[in-house]
Amino acid sequence: MKITFLGTGTSQGIPIIGSKHPVCLSKNKKDKRLRVSVLVEWENYSYVIDCGPDFRYQMLRSGCTKLDGIVFTHEHSDHVLGLDDIRPFYFMHGDLPIYAHSRVLNELKKRFNYIFETKNKYPGAPTVIEHEIKNEPFKLKNIEVMPINGLHGKLQVFGYKFQNFAYLTDMKTVADEEIEKIKNVDVLVVNALREKPHHSHFNLEEALVFIKKVSPKKAYLTHISHLLGFHDEVEKTLPENVFLAYDGLELFI
Ligand SMILES: [Zn+2]
Repeated sequence: MKITFLGTGTSQGIPIIGSKHPVCLSKNKKDKRLRVSVLVEWENYSYVIDCGPDFRYQMLRSGCTKLDGIVFTHEHSDHVLGLDDIRPFYFMHGDLPIYAHSRVLNELKKRFNYIFETKNKYPGAPTVIEHEIKNEPFKLKNIEVMPINGLHGKLQVFGYKFQNFAYLTDMKTVADEEIEKIKNVDVLVVNALREKPHHSHFNLEEALVFIKKVSPKKAYLTHISHLLGFHDEVEKTLPENVFLAYDGLELFI
């Protein structure tokens, strides 16, 4: 299984438009972060987790030309706004499967009503095939995916475990029975926004406590704000098996 980090930044992306913060002005490529998403590939199959406003560029940059579906964590704009840009995939390969909680599917129908239209649909609008995710395992092709339920402030969000890879973003609270599902995975990805606490995201300290509980072989932090600091400096301060993810990072699991 190959994982490509398509984006590792918080909701505004880094650099932030107009910001003079030193991290936003950094020349290091690892300090440039598009909105969070990962590409998960195995055999001939390719899925993305989330589809934010940078989706089009992320597909071009990663060279992804065939997509088997999109799995959504939740409905916030930084995770869904690229849905219109599935059009090239739709023109090439037809209706695109999407997987999400029923609430998220309903939110997508409000924002992208023309995609879900069944009568007098605008020619050129893409069509998706809806798959509702409940908190139970589901199949993507020949593998089973395990949802991990959590809270982003008060909002329910799903993380996902694909075999020995777990991807959790926008988490603030995860119940112990959900942590059990991902204990000792090979690779855990989890959000860590900044040092200061935040009402709906793990800060760095909370993310590190969470990683200890999960006890993965390796952990990568994502959904990072410029306020966390420079990539190269922050990484020096992390425990041995914890790393900052960065855009373009590829993992083979
Ligand atoms: Zn987010």
